[in-house]
Amino acid sequence: MRIGADGETGSKDARPHGADELASVLRALRTLSAGNRSLLRAAGEKELLHDMCSVIVEKGGYRIACVGYAVHDERKSISWQAAVGADVAEMTEFQFTWGNDSSGQSAIGTAIRTGVPVVGRHLSDASYRGPNFALLHERAVKSGFSAFTALPLRVDGQVIGGLLLVAAEPDAFHEDEVCLLTELADDLAYGIENQRMRAQHRAAQATIARLAYFDELTGLPNRTRLIELLQDAMQAAKSQRRAIALLHLEVGRFREINKLLGYRSGDELLQELAHRLEQCCTGKETLARVGEAEFALMIPNSGADHATKVAKRLLQTLRAPAHVAGLALDAKVGIGIALFPGHAVEADVLIRRANAAMHLAQPVMGGYAMYTSGLEQEHTRRLALMGDLHRAIEENELRLFCQPKVEIASRMQCGAEALVRWEHPRLGMIAPAEFVRLAEQAGTITPLTHWMLEAVFSQSYAWQEAGGTRPLAVNLSVHDLYSPGLIDRISGLFSTWGISPEMIQFELTESALMTDPESALDTLARLKHLGVTLLIDDFGTGYSGLSYLQRLPVDGIKIDQSFVRPMLISADSEVIVRSTIELGHNLGMKVLAEGVENQEIWERLASLGCDTAQGYLISKPIPVDQLAGWERQWMVEAR
Ligand code: C2E
Ligand code: MG
Ligand code: MG
Repeated sequence: MRIGADGETGSKDARPHGADELASVLRALRTLSAGNRSLLRAAGEKELLHDMCSVIVEKGGYRIACVGYAVHDERKSISWQAAVGADVAEMTEFQFTWGNDSSGQSAIGTAIRTGVPVVGRHLSDASYRGPNFALLHERAVKSGFSAFTALPLRVDGQVIGGLLLVAAEPDAFHEDEVCLLTELADDLAYGIENQRMRAQHRAAQATIARLAYFDELTGLPNRTRLIELLQDAMQAAKSQRRAIALLHLEVGRFREINKLLGYRSGDELLQELAHRLEQCCTGKETLARVGEAEFALMIPNSGADHATKVAKRLLQTLRAPAHVAGLALDAKVGIGIALFPGHAVEADVLIRRANAAMHLAQPVMGGYAMYTSGLEQEHTRRLALMGDLHRAIEENELRLFCQPKVEIASRMQCGAEALVRWEHPRLGMIAPAEFVRLAEQAGTITPLTHWMLEAVFSQSYAWQEAGGTRPLAVNLSVHDLYSPGLIDRISGLFSTWGISPEMIQFELTESALMTDPESALDTLARLKHLGVTLLIDDFGTGYSGLSYLQRLPVDGIKIDQSFVRPMLISADSEVIVRSTIELGHNLGMKVLAEGVENQEIWERLASLGCDTAQGYLISKPIPVDQLAGWERQWMVEAR
């Protein structure tokens, strides 16, 4: 123990006599035991410091108790954390430091610096009148404080601050009392350490909870959390007889964006979309990120009608392009809707069903779809098929089918559309509707397109060898359109097989072109440069404006069968068919009608001046090697 570090006050024998000594030891003991109770009770570090200071003053009868922490700044200042009997602002005013200069000579400064308890007595002595203590002296004289002790607080072997006690008796703080008070300071230091450990523990637990329940990238609740919230909401909804809607939303082409622009841009896109979705949600709705590029929205107290409105609202919000990596990206989003209790009464099943519905959401249908029973089995079946598709290509299970196209005026065959079929060893012949869209979504369409191109070119070569001239049209999907190696591959095939460009045509759906009109335009121009014929497929189902259409280097449009088939019974469809024919002709394009199923439609199309027809009336899709046979038959009938 140091005596009188603050200007040598205690060099005289300060040992009190008998009764006084006993009284001061007893008060230190009282303080110690009350202090221990505070240690156990305190709920935080600040609270602990304050409680300890209160105990010292209230139970121990000391005049002032305060705690200062050493700040590791240039001045080596002291930051007062708690004070009872004085206040923190007042202590700060003294501007004590723990440095080695004159401002660091206070008891607390010395205790912190040296790590040894410091005792000062007879504070009112003249020896405290130095410039650094003028204020302290004034205060001591005014309040009748006489003695003090400063005890270092050691946490983890390091002095982090000190405990300062002031007493009214000039001869307070003799050795035994200081020993006990040192123990109190050590207890307090232990308490601080303990509180800090607990705080760290709490922070770690909060981080774990955050990681377990929230998505790092967007800060949104994750799938686990959504399931919990859904379960709670379902409980409540059940007793109140209310419905819950769950919307499942997926950002299309996300993998492609990640691949092309890098993961950082992909992340930015997701953050931007999450932000927009959040802005568009009300306080009652819960938005969560449930997959790589998948979000879910839980809407309590909502039936089908309201859920549909919300889906439209979300799609509207996401319609504007997102600005990422200096590009304006059009995120294509599909939304599936499932309802509690109608579609599922368990949280994970509801999510799964909304997801299954989402796979049905087509831009032409507004971009959202409601769950219908059976969809899930269907979805599972398709997913299982997807896993098989790779193998199917390798094991040559794909078949080339084709459907002839006929010129209406002359009734002559003018080519055929190449259509893929999958001859599954167990499931039999599978139509492309079952796997083409999924292959597009799963990003596995490229090998399928490659297979198709090989098949079409070698078939075309075989016909050429046999003296036939039937152009074959290949369907390209949206992924193909933006795939960088496509044009080189096609021009390579022309060189390999020595086929003239008129023999190969390409069909591109209107919605594929509209996904990214500018890049589509570029690809079309390069394709056109090869001399091939280009057709817009499923025309009428996308949103291309006339001005865009005019800029496309295409030779013809195929009116979607959804307008052609009902054209005799639906005036709207008839108007669409008629105006598309006019529009196409005005732009100098050939117009083909798909889905010509009967003679009446054929006649009507003929009267409207439509150029070409394709449909069941002429022929269903047939294996490509049956085309010559069909053709002979058709010629006979045409005569
Ligand atoms: P699409 O290109 O519009 O092809 C026309 C679809 O309509 C064919 O279905 C055909 O069988 C069907 N169809 C033709 N005439 C009629 C008719 O009179 N009535 C009815 N109800 N349907 C008719 P399919 O072969 O099932 O193909 C469906 C879609 O799958 C195609 O639509 C095309 O977008 C896609 N697809 C087919 N093969 C390929 C391919 O090799 N690659 C790519 N990327 N897509 C393909
Ligand atoms: Mg087609
Ligand atoms: Mg079509």
